[in-house]
Amino acid sequence: MTIKPLVILPDSKLRLVSEPVKEITDEIRKLADDMLDTMYDAPGVGLAAIQVGVPLRMVTMDVSKTEGERHPMVLLNPEIVWASEEKRVYEEGCLSIPEYYEEVERPDRVRFRYMNLQGETVEQEAEDLMATCVQHEIDHLNGVLFIDHLSKLKRDRVITKFKKAAKREAGA
Ligand SMILES: [Zn+2]
Repeated sequence: MTIKPLVILPDSKLRLVSEPVKEITDEIRKLADDMLDTMYDAPGVGLAAIQVGVPLRMVTMDVSKTEGERHPMVLLNPEIVWASEEKRVYEEGCLSIPEYYEEVERPDRVRFRYMNLQGETVEQEAEDLMATCVQHEIDHLNGVLFIDHLSKLKRDRVITKFKKAAKREAGA
């Protein structure tokens, strides 16, 4: 079990566009395990590889609502193939922006496609928390954060706050 350190705002790695996973190697399987350990430890419902400093198009998720039950998902090269016109507002947070929560509007339902660790292509429809989560995580693969969906005023405010905190830590 390996818990990896999380990449935190304003680290510029969070703005990288991640590269596709080309081959499912032992290294990829190990990274998936480490990402799941890190996500459950945090705890969080989703994690993108770049949040542990690896710029690969890889996401782990567990949106099961029953306490004590785990439904880990590992998505390689995930993409949204359809999104509903209807939107929904969900309060989002991010392990890279700790203790900050804000309402974000996104498509209510999406269909997404990915490769699993067995190398199979899977297409799946999601609504509710899973729809929000998969959109949030795919954003990470493109260097986009949930605060980018907020007003400039709110976004600037949270970025300034995290920059100050990082400076304090570096200076201390
Ligand atoms: Zn996030």
